[in-house]
Amino acid sequence: MSFTPEKLKYLQERFGGANEQLIYDEHFQSVANTVIDSSGTRDAPYAGIPTLLDAPAERIAWGAPDFGDLQVALIGVPMDLGITNRNGTRFGPRALRTIERIGPYNHVLKAVPTRDLKVADIGDVPFRSRFHLEQCHQDIEETYKKITAAGVIPLSAGGDHSMTLPILKAVAKDGPIALIHIDAHCDTSGPFDGSRFHHGGPFRQAVLEGLVDPTKTIQIGIRGSAEYLWEFSYESGMTVVHAEEVTGLGVPAIVQRALELVGDTPVYVSFDIDSIDPAFAPGTGTPEVGGLTVREAQELLRGLAGINIVGGDVVEVSPAYDATTNTAHVGAQILFEILSLISVRLNGHFANK
Ligand code: MN
Ligand code: MN
Repeated sequence: MSFTPEKLKYLQERFGGANEQLIYDEHFQSVANTVIDSSGTRDAPYAGIPTLLDAPAERIAWGAPDFGDLQVALIGVPMDLGITNRNGTRFGPRALRTIERIGPYNHVLKAVPTRDLKVADIGDVPFRSRFHLEQCHQDIEETYKKITAAGVIPLSAGGDHSMTLPILKAVAKDGPIALIHIDAHCDTSGPFDGSRFHHGGPFRQAVLEGLVDPTKTIQIGIRGSAEYLWEFSYESGMTVVHAEEVTGLGVPAIVQRALELVGDTPVYVSFDIDSIDPAFAPGTGTPEVGGLTVREAQELLRGLAGINIVGGDVVEVSPAYDATTNTAHVGAQILFEILSLISVRLNGHFANK
């Protein structure tokens, strides 16, 4: 079909004049209806009180929490007492909140998760003290037990990765769950300096405490020079996909393996931003070159649509090393991708398969 005068006239009539505001596609129009008001305007992405994914803010009275009809709680965990190297992930949740223009539409999954779900940014975990790692973990566990007891799915912005262990204690209280773990590091190493709760070991502890089924666990993006610390992953039966294998295997094959492993078991998705190559996400405490591209990570997560997701997190964003804010931008986008997975599971929007 060539661009004839007739074609031009047709386009002018269909998209010009009185019709210039129209969106003909019904699905696109339904998305637009959640964004554009009757006067034709939209919220300015740079204005207002910043929240995670621009979700509504909801203040929770933690003494007697009432989550109403909330389905998903976006929550910050500003805590970095478990880090082994550069600090600063306590500023991660705030950095993610400042990122604008993430969503609302996921064109791959045909989801508008912040509209399709009852979701709110419920603020940050209330900590009794900023000085004690184990006590902070207790506070995280207690907070998440309140969230999960109300039937609400927690989706968290960290914070260092040590926080995922107390989260799993709440999410997996009925027995071991599956785990999709995207990270440069297996985080299954043992204690050192007198602590077994640092950010390099939460998934060893999670298995040993009966929270995670290692045979339904896949760790993706693994690399760096600490492989000698991670025999627990192999001996417990986890599936480990190294970063250098990703190109050869291809993302679709990795997705397939993950889907086979987790089946319809309740699954937690834990995303360490250091899985992404520091070219895209330098703002993190233990960067490792040779990592995933953002596009690979997005393809991976979108491929998981339909999994029985019961919680997720994006951890280890450390804005002090994030001069361009790219890392926070990637972190917010990944948070959006995980929220989209929850939306697909709960709402069934799923046009691709
Ligand atoms: Mn980690
Ligand atoms: Mn890591």
